[in-house]
Amino acid sequence: MIPYDLHIHSLMSDGLHSLLEIVSIAKKKKAKGFCITEHGPALGYFANDSHGMWFSNDSVRFPAEIDGIIFWRGMEANLIPQKGDIDVLPKDYKRLDILAIGSHCYRDSRPEDWGKEEETIAMIEAIKKHPIDIVAHPYLEKVALDMAKVLDLCVDKGIAIELNNRYISLDKVNQHELEVLMIYAKENPKLRLVEGSDGHTFTEMFEDGGTQKIMKKYGIKNDRILNRDKEQLMEFVRERKELRQKEE
Ligand SMILES: [Zn+2]
Ligand SMILES: [Zn+2]
Repeated sequence: MIPYDLHIHSLMSDGLHSLLEIVSIAKKKKAKGFCITEHGPALGYFANDSHGMWFSNDSVRFPAEIDGIIFWRGMEANLIPQKGDIDVLPKDYKRLDILAIGSHCYRDSRPEDWGKEEETIAMIEAIKKHPIDIVAHPYLEKVALDMAKVLDLCVDKGIAIELNNRYISLDKVNQHELEVLMIYAKENPKLRLVEGSDGHTFTEMFEDGGTQKIMKKYGIKNDRILNRDKEQLMEFVRERKELRQKEE
């Protein structure tokens, strides 16, 4: 079980549960907190007002702690390679507690000749330009990054790399790139790591069977995982938010 799950989707994007249901799921699983990381608009599922309202208004009204469970407002933004950018504006991401970015395969999202090299360059540009906190699942089967080219930059910028329980459990990963990440993580204690369930349903939320298995395989212990320790995590969120609010 992930005590502070940093990757959860609610009804406001493509998850199955409301915020209050997720609070009760957390309590049932004895978790202590979670971050809602709704998808950015480029994914295209949510051309309705409620999604925009979530970021601009609704989520701000929720307290930072609900029934003893800590709640953070986040977003899983998308890389928009054609524009060399991400699908969230600085005025919006300044309001968030956590800004994650992921490479996703979505409709018309990539030029035909687009490959790993182009995806990696686009991610590096986005990381340099925006105060991103977490790179979510950078080793997906279909849109893996060249991990060797991004990890030093992530260390320099204090960005955390996510071990994503859903994709690792489903084995929808590029094994080579995941291995490059795990070996690098083992040798470089300065690389920040987080675990995320990528939970869309109560069966997935807070679960860590796949991530724990892969950590064991590469000899990475739980004390390397930033979101397993409340103080470390609170400090990370404070540091990143401050950095983000300084952006022009
Ligand atoms: Zn994702
Ligand atoms: Zn997700």
